[in-house]
Amino acid sequence: MGKDVRSCSEKDLMALCGERGFPEYRGRQIFAGVHRRGAQCWDEIPSLGTEIRKTLSCDLFFGSVALADRRCSLDGTRKYLFCMADGECIETVLIPDGEAKRWTLCVSTQAGCAVGCVFCATGRDGFRRNLTAGEIVAQALEVIRAEKEMRPDFKIGNLVFMGMGEPFLNREPVMQAIDLFHAERGLNMGMRKMTISTCGVAPGILHLAAARSQIGLAVSLHSSCDAVRDTLVPMNKRYPLAVLMEACRYYSAQTHRRITFEMALTQETCTLEEAEALTKLLKGMTAHVNLIPVNPVSVNPTQPHYERPSGRQMSRYMAVLERERIPVSLREEKGADIEAACGQLRGKSGREGVGRVEACEPIIKM
Ligand code: SAH
Ligand code: SF4
Repeated sequence: MGKDVRSCSEKDLMALCGERGFPEYRGRQIFAGVHRRGAQCWDEIPSLGTEIRKTLSCDLFFGSVALADRRCSLDGTRKYLFCMADGECIETVLIPDGEAKRWTLCVSTQAGCAVGCVFCATGRDGFRRNLTAGEIVAQALEVIRAEKEMRPDFKIGNLVFMGMGEPFLNREPVMQAIDLFHAERGLNMGMRKMTISTCGVAPGILHLAAARSQIGLAVSLHSSCDAVRDTLVPMNKRYPLAVLMEACRYYSAQTHRRITFEMALTQETCTLEEAEALTKLLKGMTAHVNLIPVNPVSVNPTQPHYERPSGRQMSRYMAVLERERIPVSLREEKGADIEAACGQLRGKSGREGVGRVEACEPIIKM
């Protein structure tokens, strides 16, 4: 059956063309056709000629990441549902900035997630499978294609690995996808325009540090006390705070990049003690803290429900960090009305949920 063309680097494609007796520059043409012009099949790279297309179709295939649904939030956030060849589905979220001139794309790295953080809809649904590099990249290519139908100058400004799944539990394909996104003849995304979010898989952080990768790092911390974090993010039992923070400090030393710490706060964790503990944990680090009032997830009514902290609770928490001069921001909530906000992705058609189905123009048919 061969390899998904969207998982192949430019070098892979050039080598393959050479092996099959074609000039290597053809590989470059294929790469640009797929990544820059978003070709979804051989016919969409007509410059190649029929003979090479016929030969290479024995080695390469266009993996199917088919657009199944798209929903628009009142705030302009769009959630895409993609189904893959084996029937697994994933969600990808496109978030506008203030004036919607720049967009952030949030891609999934796994169908489901095995980590099982208690307030995450993806985690509550369990793990289904890892995505390939091609399936990760295809989410961006398909979104660009669909958006360009409406606005030809559409461009992704930032790309975050914060959709479904834990990127460092699918590390190789994620690292390949990063290289594919970064490739000059592809989307040419700057490393600093991309961010990986992890629940705290320390070896993944060490890997980025050792590679001196300039890709951004966000760590989903949620609590600064092991006993509490153990109950929220099960990965904490494997990599407790001391191990995680040591990896973070090594990453900062190697890359000189500021780490973002994500704090999804509940009524129980938005306390002064937690805020004080966080300032101690981050002492001496170049960090940024993102506070997110926990988003509601509706998976199963028998599962625990987490209440958002009050505005007053949030302000008091924030004040502790500000007092210690730790940069802190309150994440603006985007896409909650279509269940596209942090932790709400499930890879299911949202037809049974809230929001406006196919409210974006032009309508994309199923
Ligand atoms: N697995 C990675 C990336 C995907 S989750 C990670 O955990 O970092 C993306 C972000 O959503 C993480 O920061 C995660 O902690 C957060 N999140 C999960 N459930 C949430 C919820 N109900 N409300 C707010 N944020 C949530
Ligand atoms: Fe997985 Fe991240 Fe959700 Fe935790 S928050 S279950 S790591 S996707």
